[in-house]
Amino acid sequence: MLGANAKSLLTVTALFLLSTAPFGDKAARGQDPANVKSALLPAGSRLRELPLTAVQIRDTFWSPRLEVNRTRTLDHVYKELEATGCIRNFDIAAGKAQAKFGGPWWADSDVYKWIEGASYILAQHPNAQLESRVDELIAKIAAAQQKDGYLDTYVQLNLPDLKWKSLAFNHEMFCAGSLFEAAVAHNQATGKRSLLEVALRLADHLDSTFGPGKQAGIPGHEEVELALVRLYRLTQEKRFLQLAQYFIDSRGQKPSIFERQYEQLAERKVELLGHPMGIKDFYRRFFLVDPAKFDTSYSQDQLPVRQQRVAVGHAVRAMYLYSGMADLVYETGDQGLWEALQSLHDSVTNHRMYVTGGIGPSERNEGFTADYDLPNEDAYQETCASAGMVLWNYRMLKLTGEARYADAMELSLYNALAAGVSLTGDTFCYVTPLASRGDFKRDPWFGVPCCPTTVARFLPALGRYIYSESPDGLWVNLFIAGQVKANLAGKKVTLRQSGNYPWDEKVKLMVEVEAPQEFVLHVRVPGWAAAPDFVVNGERFSPRVVNGYAEISRSWSNGDTIDLTLPMNIQRLEANPQVVYNRSKTALRRGPLIYCLEQVDQEAPLEQIVLPLDAHLEGQYTPGLLGGITLIKGQGLSCPLDDWKNVLYRTVRPANAKPVPVTAVPYCIWGNRGLGKMAVWIDATR
Ligand SMILES: [Zn+2]
Repeated sequence: MLGANAKSLLTVTALFLLSTAPFGDKAARGQDPANVKSALLPAGSRLRELPLTAVQIRDTFWSPRLEVNRTRTLDHVYKELEATGCIRNFDIAAGKAQAKFGGPWWADSDVYKWIEGASYILAQHPNAQLESRVDELIAKIAAAQQKDGYLDTYVQLNLPDLKWKSLAFNHEMFCAGSLFEAAVAHNQATGKRSLLEVALRLADHLDSTFGPGKQAGIPGHEEVELALVRLYRLTQEKRFLQLAQYFIDSRGQKPSIFERQYEQLAERKVELLGHPMGIKDFYRRFFLVDPAKFDTSYSQDQLPVRQQRVAVGHAVRAMYLYSGMADLVYETGDQGLWEALQSLHDSVTNHRMYVTGGIGPSERNEGFTADYDLPNEDAYQETCASAGMVLWNYRMLKLTGEARYADAMELSLYNALAAGVSLTGDTFCYVTPLASRGDFKRDPWFGVPCCPTTVARFLPALGRYIYSESPDGLWVNLFIAGQVKANLAGKKVTLRQSGNYPWDEKVKLMVEVEAPQEFVLHVRVPGWAAAPDFVVNGERFSPRVVNGYAEISRSWSNGDTIDLTLPMNIQRLEANPQVVYNRSKTALRRGPLIYCLEQVDQEAPLEQIVLPLDAHLEGQYTPGLLGGITLIKGQGLSCPLDDWKNVLYRTVRPANAKPVPVTAVPYCIWGNRGLGKMAVWIDATR
């Protein structure tokens, strides 16, 4: 969230090595791996989102997770927000309670994120009790808002003289953005304007404070940009779009707005998460790592965004910035921002991303370091950053209709993000390593609770990513069983999806129409599926594949079916050799899922296991385990370490290897069976 979790100012292990080798399977799809450019679809042809209420999810992977999120996570998060004082802060700011400020200084945002998640749930599962709890919370928020529209309980209570004057440190704009998103979600779910009115007053206040000829400012933690676009889409108020553009275009000034504000600040201490901290120390910690140079790359402020080509700094902030840029491109077709976004996407996915789709290896800045610096045990891979990858790639998909963005979205969703919450829905990863010596566990809450509230707000909105529509038809982006009801050219179309994805390779789509209707069904062909097979109404069909989407254009009749087979061969992955942590190692992938070894499934100690590249592997669906998962079973080797006792180095000799069965489980469910060792990257040789 803000580096508050950082234990030390470690020197970043920078591996300044140059290469352009890509991650993924573009070559398998027939794309030139070196081509990182995408064509921006014309304004009228960009993919559109369907209302959340138009989509139903009824599958075996997500449905149980969504049910746990609705029935357990939401309540758990609310109780923690209450217990830690995050909700009471609004009462204190309204003069209705006397107590110390509770939670981190951006605690307001966590309350707003809870309301956003609750609103998505209300849209899909009306519940009077939940709705009145949301109403009560909104009344508290409204009461805390100042007459001029300003609202940020931390600053109101602790730093009233620093309103908008310490933007890198305070999170006023991050909280404002979270409020706008919650307000839009609440309005769309309930039709009520109570939170929207609060949001509009704050948005007007922001608009009257910042912009050309007004105060200069940008958020230290991005989010308000994409949220202003969202507010614009709901209200059609152009000022909000212009303000988003202003914030995006004002990054990267010399000297930085943050540096100018820093110079105006007096040395003073505030209590942060129970510890005294100097506000200027915060700036020094993140922007003056080299005391001779004020460097604001931590907040993606090192260059104007149009000139940015490499992903830097705090990973969650970067994801929100890039998402906001993509939203602006969607509305304006801005070519300069689009050029930057494509390079940034190449920087992340081909040089700085974990095999799980997570990002941000370093604890020091909770973010990016250097190309190929992707340690496993020390991986930071914050859950909020994994969610951010979904948000950003979804927007890139809507701009291009290119399946590679849906591939990236699916990778982060099913692996890094899904691993961020336990199957019981009440413990979470803040940091999500790719290897563990057995001492890692998820926690019910954190002093910096952004990740639990991210899970609570993200999952109930999952439906928005599955389908899209465009002027010519419907798009299937993700294979999640259920249905979507769309309105194509004024006519109702229902598309039903069934199957047992991601465990089974067969997906069935069925069209329901009132009368025969012509439209194009765009069905994603995942990059990992080498030879997909299409059968339409019982007959083999070879669709034209454009940018990774199969185009099936015909006059659809009621009951027409598409049987799709996405071969889920078990694949051995290797990393670019410049990822030194993974040399001579291999990872396993089946369908969209990345696998790992957990000690609990092995006969040999994990650190002794070797999985030769020619080892026979097979998938085994195991319905009784962890809600039903496909295991990968195979024969590996165990190389005991007995003859290494009291030996650190020796001349090379053959390993004393014995055959041993090896079982791998999906990374997304690791850590649900108690403490134990885990590894995604497995030795292929010893
Ligand atoms: Zn987080």
